[in-house]
Amino acid sequence: MSDDAARRLSETMKRIAAAAKRVGRDPEQVNLIAVSKTFDADAIRPVLAAEHRHFGENRVQEAQRKWPDLKAEYPDLTLHLIGPLQSNKAREAVALFDAIHTVDRPKIARALAAEMDKQGRRPQLFIQVNTGEETQKAGVLAADVGELLTLCRDELGLEIAGLMCIPPMDEEPAIHFAFLGKLAGELGLTGLSMGMSGDFETAVELGATHVRVGSAIFGARG
Ligand SMILES: *Cc1c(COP(=O)(O)O)cnc(C)c1O
Repeated sequence: MSDDAARRLSETMKRIAAAAKRVGRDPEQVNLIAVSKTFDADAIRPVLAAEHRHFGENRVQEAQRKWPDLKAEYPDLTLHLIGPLQSNKAREAVALFDAIHTVDRPKIARALAAEMDKQGRRPQLFIQVNTGEETQKAGVLAADVGELLTLCRDELGLEIAGLMCIPPMDEEPAIHFAFLGKLAGELGLTGLSMGMSGDFETAVELGATHVRVGSAIFGARG
């Protein structure tokens, strides 16, 4: 099991490099986030031992159980929050995570700004865009990204690294990745958090700077 994760990590990195080369990108520009949600520290250790340092979790509470010890052991690791954030968890999120990919409304932006000032910690921030306009999905609508970005920057003094999306299950992801890339370009943002196990190569071809890959590395979730 554990050797498998390290082997699949290296396989994933090769596929990212090949996808980047196909479009003339430097593979170094793509950050592979190993999404370890539902997997415990024992499953994560082999990936850390393989010198991987970017990890993603989608729940603050689950991450709080696993990561403080691992962070103490590997102080150079980068922990990404990729799941929805409630404003009452902003304190914990700012304390634990080095990047937050799911800023999607003024209330969260304000809560994060207040906590960042209080704690003197400044995680990298991405705005999540609901590119499929799905009612049940988190993320700001594309039409409202500019306004949220202005609020973050001008009123709250937050730096925004880029945009993030999760395409609808039943649609061609490439359309959503291309759209997110275009939107980021129009807003002058360079970070693009997009692509999961099933579609990360497409995302890399369309400019992803951060791909979030879980099952292709850790195996199927139970
Ligand atoms: C779980 C999750 C992933 C990883 O999904 P896989 O299909 O296992 O690669 C990526 N992004 C988000 C937001 C997730 O919640």
